[in-house]
Amino acid sequence: MKTEVLSWDLENELALKKGAQIIRDGGLVGIPTETVYGLGACAYNAGACLEIFKAKGRPADNPLIVHILNPEDAEKIAITSKLYYRLAERFMPGPLTIIMPKRDIIPNEVTAGLDSVAVRCPVHKVARRIIELSGVPIAAPSANKSGMPSPTTAQHVYNDMNGEIPLIIDAGACEVGVESTVIKITEDEIILLRPGAITVEMLREICPRVSVSSAVLQELRAGEVALSPGMKYKHYSPKASLYLVSDSEDFIALARDRAQREKCAIMCYDEETDALDGLMLLPVGRREDIKEQTRRLFDLLRQADELGAQTIYAHLPTMQDEALALYNRMIRASAHKIIGGTNG
Ligand code: AMP
Ligand code: MG
Repeated sequence: MKTEVLSWDLENELALKKGAQIIRDGGLVGIPTETVYGLGACAYNAGACLEIFKAKGRPADNPLIVHILNPEDAEKIAITSKLYYRLAERFMPGPLTIIMPKRDIIPNEVTAGLDSVAVRCPVHKVARRIIELSGVPIAAPSANKSGMPSPTTAQHVYNDMNGEIPLIIDAGACEVGVESTVIKITEDEIILLRPGAITVEMLREICPRVSVSSAVLQELRAGEVALSPGMKYKHYSPKASLYLVSDSEDFIALARDRAQREKCAIMCYDEETDALDGLMLLPVGRREDIKEQTRRLFDLLRQADELGAQTIYAHLPTMQDEALALYNRMIRASAHKIIGGTNG
């Protein structure tokens, strides 16, 4: 199959109409969202959704997120609640996914046999227009090969999905850069399953009882059941081995030392580029700029592989506030390889 990459254009909606038609016909489309690029199919079409698993090489027990245009569209696919609407009012459309009991219209293939469905209402205008033109909810995981860093540009999607899908819609780099915040809700409690741009602190403004699933911060223990199946898989991993360096270490000295012995890429702060001159540098943004570091993360991991790095050294982020999403993706990409203590 030839994979076409078309630029979005809201005035001349050629690419979007084509994409919507493919989705209605049971095909797959690479779609830009504010978080990462998604691999979308009609959420009512079990066969099309199975093709997503095939194209990604995704384990069959890892469910997909269903994307809707407006919060009230969740009524068709899920059993909503007051808390859902309070969260929706504040955070939708936006990078928040809410897991609720599913209705029968959503095939078991989408939810990997679970009796719950993950619902998200994206804010990206291209994603929204495709959902609108398709006239159906769109099931979409990240558009990378399973295990690889998620795609934040159309080129990343093309590199992973060339020959597997008919169309990728290009709308430039994603604004957030990591996947949505995923929460499970009961009447009066929120459980955070995956951190993202909607932070624990923001969620607490709507509902004070927010707990963080242990898999967000740690490795699952042997035999432990993940609340979110995706958390048990190797994730976001470049081919190079990623090591996270705690603030207790001298990053500059360590990077210089390792560079003498290994072909390593150094993910340094912008402020450190002078001190590390001559090494294979992948600047992540300024030290305080967590949003920029988050936005660049997956692209830099992919770049390290393209440069042929055997190892990557990066700063270990804190777990505070908006840095939690970055921390979670980085510890998983590194398979928990940390040099020095964890940063509080
Ligand atoms: P991705 O779309 O690739 O970002 O992955 C979707 C994430 O949402 C994975 O970690 C899934 O395990 C999780 N997810 C989707 N649906 C459910 C559900 N019904 N229950 C728990 N987790 C879910
Ligand atoms: Mg994914």
